[in-house]
Amino acid sequence: MADKKLAGQIAIVTGANSGIGEGVAISLGEAGANVVVNYVVNPDAANVIVDKIKSFGSNAIAIKADVSKEDQVMNMFAQTIQQFGTVDILVNNAGLQRDAKLHEMTLAQWQLVIDINLTGQFLCAREAIKEFLRRGIAPERSVACGKIICMSSVHEMIPWAGHANYATSKGGIKMLMQTMAQEYGRQKIRVNSICPGAIKTPINTTAWSTPEAYNSLMNLIPYNRIGVPEDIGKLAVFLASDDSDYITGASIFIDGGMTVFEGFATGG
Ligand code: NAD
Repeated sequence: MADKKLAGQIAIVTGANSGIGEGVAISLGEAGANVVVNYVVNPDAANVIVDKIKSFGSNAIAIKADVSKEDQVMNMFAQTIQQFGTVDILVNNAGLQRDAKLHEMTLAQWQLVIDINLTGQFLCAREAIKEFLRRGIAPERSVACGKIICMSSVHEMIPWAGHANYATSKGGIKMLMQTMAQEYGRQKIRVNSICPGAIKTPINTTAWSTPEAYNSLMNLIPYNRIGVPEDIGKLAVFLASDDSDYITGASIFIDGGMTVFEGFATGG
């Protein structure tokens, strides 16, 4: 039986009906958290994850909300508090890509990625912090007043040609995360980022779905395998639990070594 490190805590995971969000929601539920599975499309997939979390003995509900829309985010938090009483953990995971060379990128492509990947994290974090401050520390559940985990990327560090909107959103998340950690540390709110490398999900199918693409991807990964959502789920449980109580304001890279720049192993 899995260790119930998050027993009784309430977690919201955005974009939790696919890929990394799905893996994180399941891991948090397995660790004893009651989980809000946020989705914006495909409620059936969200309901499958809700059922899986319930099979561990935790509670779960699916809530539809577009994280880039202020009223929908506020409504998601209100529904969560009505249903579960409070929020202890926010995983700001929802994100997407709209790739284009910069000189061909439309304002709509730029704006959509910034709105969802960056403004969406601000809107959700603001509501979470309001609730953490209202409630204060609940020592029976955690020594911290609340935990926010931002899903960033290796692209908060590595520039990415053809993806300026996405890389900019992740660079922005780094400063948002660190500023929140600085601003609310004294209230015992911990804020950290997970920075995945290549994880096998629908967002990057072209990077792993053919042997040629996979082999080419391995040129970037010293550890020589693609990541899976469970890798991220385990780290999210650690960052949400009191095991990581002295970690705040940190970007944790989980990338099979992508950020040690494999190309320099034989060159440079
Ligand atoms: P994914 O496409 O499988 O999942 C993205 C999720 O976000 C989906 O559930 C989608 O419906 C949801 N979403 C999109 N727009 C939304 C909105 N407006 N409101 C609410 N939900 C919305 O991709 P993924 O790989 O699981 O990506 C999850 C996060 O991980 C993203 O922030 C992504 O940037 C980050 N990430 C992924 C990788 C990777 O290799 N897969 C690497 C680094 C970072």
